[in-house]
Amino acid sequence: MSLGSPLLRYWYNPAPDSLGHTVEEFLQILAGPALIHVPGRDRQRKRALCTLLHGNEPSGTRALFRWLQQQPQPAVDLLCFIGSVHTALTEPPFFHRHLPGERDLNRCFRPPFEDRQGRLAKAILDILQEMEPESLIDIHNTSGMGPSFAVAMKQDPEHEALASLFTERMLVTGLRLGALFEYSERNVPTVTIECGGAQDPRADEIAYEGLLRYVDAAEVLKPFRADWQMEVLYEPVRLELSEDAAITYSEAEDVYADITLPPDVERHNFGRVAPDQPLGWVKPGSWDKLKITNPAGEDVKSQVIRLQGNRLYPAQPLKLFMITTNASIAKSDCLFYAVTDNDSHLMAQ
Ligand SMILES: [Zn+2]
Repeated sequence: MSLGSPLLRYWYNPAPDSLGHTVEEFLQILAGPALIHVPGRDRQRKRALCTLLHGNEPSGTRALFRWLQQQPQPAVDLLCFIGSVHTALTEPPFFHRHLPGERDLNRCFRPPFEDRQGRLAKAILDILQEMEPESLIDIHNTSGMGPSFAVAMKQDPEHEALASLFTERMLVTGLRLGALFEYSERNVPTVTIECGGAQDPRADEIAYEGLLRYVDAAEVLKPFRADWQMEVLYEPVRLELSEDAAITYSEAEDVYADITLPPDVERHNFGRVAPDQPLGWVKPGSWDKLKITNPAGEDVKSQVIRLQGNRLYPAQPLKLFMITTNASIAKSDCLFYAVTDNDSHLMAQ
């Protein structure tokens, strides 16, 4: 088979006793990015699954390891990509999202593919194109605590069916960041699954239960339960911080920080936040260090947040999610995602 890529180890149908006894041993045996190919009952069809694009998000790898130990036979061939193995094994294990000095692998699935992360992303895309799976799932954990949800580029019955294998919530976004779920553009239904916090045992169960449905079902692009109600959130925007912004988490305003958020800010995840609900503190002189644009690149900050004195408030009723209490992720990625509570789109005014 012409799957050889020097960047990705190809492993066909591993025997359960060759996988190691723990998830850490399993990753040591893989020793780097890998593609595990498990033959199905129907050899004419394939599904793909990716996980560990972020080295600090173990639920998908744990689910895959647990499943592979049972010498499974999926309904159709399963292609399992395991991404940031080096990153996850770097001490302390499952700590780094990506290694210092490297790009976030789940922002590398679009050109340029020049650095090591880009070349690995390109190798995964090339194999997907060659193997033509009927669907693709990418399993993550959120950096903060909160319920599970899916992310997709399109809202259609196929993407909803895939998401419903794992969760009851789906974000639909036109943001193009170079994430793997943008593979939907190639007409392969693809969703990201955010199982919940990396430290939350429920997230491991959500990943495992969903994986079993994904591999066992004869069809995954049709709803697996007729009564499933999917909550769909459209076009979230991201609150991004400038590189020089100082953010801290504290019960009271830190005068040395540009932004202070309470340590329990994650409790707003997926809840409704009213305009009179204070979110934290921002120094008025630091206001320009906060940036919110919609997928069209238009500045919509004034529709999402407002400052009253030093206190930060929603500018209108919102739903917030993926709120992080990790300052480095807040700065390198985003502080949170938001949608309006009435599902109206945020446009430049
Ligand atoms: Zn992730």
